[in-house]
Amino acid sequence: MNVVTTPEDLRATLGPARVGRIGFVPTMGALHEGHLDLLRAARADNDTVVLSIFVNPTQFNDAADLAAYPRTTESDLAQAEAAGVDVVFLPTAESMYPSGFATSIRVSGPITETLEGAMRGAEHFDGVATVVAKLLLAVLPDAAYFGAKDAQQVVVVQRMVADLGIPVRIVVVPTARERDGLARSSRNVRLSVEDRARAVAVPRALTALRRLSEQGETDVERLRAVAAVELAADDVEIEYLVVVDPGDLHELATVDGVALVALAVRVGEIRLIDNITITAPAFGASETKDAS
Ligand code: AMP
Repeated sequence: MNVVTTPEDLRATLGPARVGRIGFVPTMGALHEGHLDLLRAARADNDTVVLSIFVNPTQFNDAADLAAYPRTTESDLAQAEAAGVDVVFLPTAESMYPSGFATSIRVSGPITETLEGAMRGAEHFDGVATVVAKLLLAVLPDAAYFGAKDAQQVVVVQRMVADLGIPVRIVVVPTARERDGLARSSRNVRLSVEDRARAVAVPRALTALRRLSEQGETDVERLRAVAAVELAADDVEIEYLVVVDPGDLHELATVDGVALVALAVRVGEIRLIDNITITAPAFGASETKDAS
């Protein structure tokens, strides 16, 4: 496994690999099973697998959150090696944003203004779009792998790649969960023991909502209410809990096809996000993933 720290070294290392297929998994490190699922998907489809680890400062709206973000490079490299990664790109902030850096990519409209964009500010997705574009240009992969856990990020990246004509296939990998259903996240390690126990209200809420939907309920207010009850039972504070169109993220009043249920909550000090898709029973067989 090669570890490189500059785009120039990355390009030189990947030169000979371009005869085959290159799969790319961008991350902020603190690797867990969710990231490993992405790496496994990339490993299965490609000749060369590239992992990037970069805690991108421009997508954090909160300096304390950036400072507290877990950094576990040594264990990340061991896990990457075990997962069969060929090249790890570990850029410094200076090599990604050299002095004089002045370009930003903005994906406009509701897909960046709602949900995470509304809570974290439009700059959050400017930071995401710009760093993902830079990473895709540095790696020039055939395919890049993203987690369904960050559903809005996937929509934004797909929009940007289509709009800029970046020749890469975006592959979406289902959310990896802990045994009790909590979505795996680098932030989970920061939950206290008590808060970790309360956090299970999140998958419980999503599962309750799905069950009600499967029983034929299509009214979004009633679907949201059943999830809100589960979250309130464990004193989990809701930032947003919405049922939206999975394509353009506009809020739905009634579910009449496939819908994305997305939420952000605070459990103690820690902010968690999660989502599932639901399908109106009349629309056809459920193709949704389970939250438990
Ligand atoms: P992050 O390091 O949190 O920026 O995540 C890097 C990539 O891993 C993103 O595409 C995430 O959506 C994905 N990811 C994070 N957690 C999970 C999870 N539990 N299941 C699947 N993918 C995930």
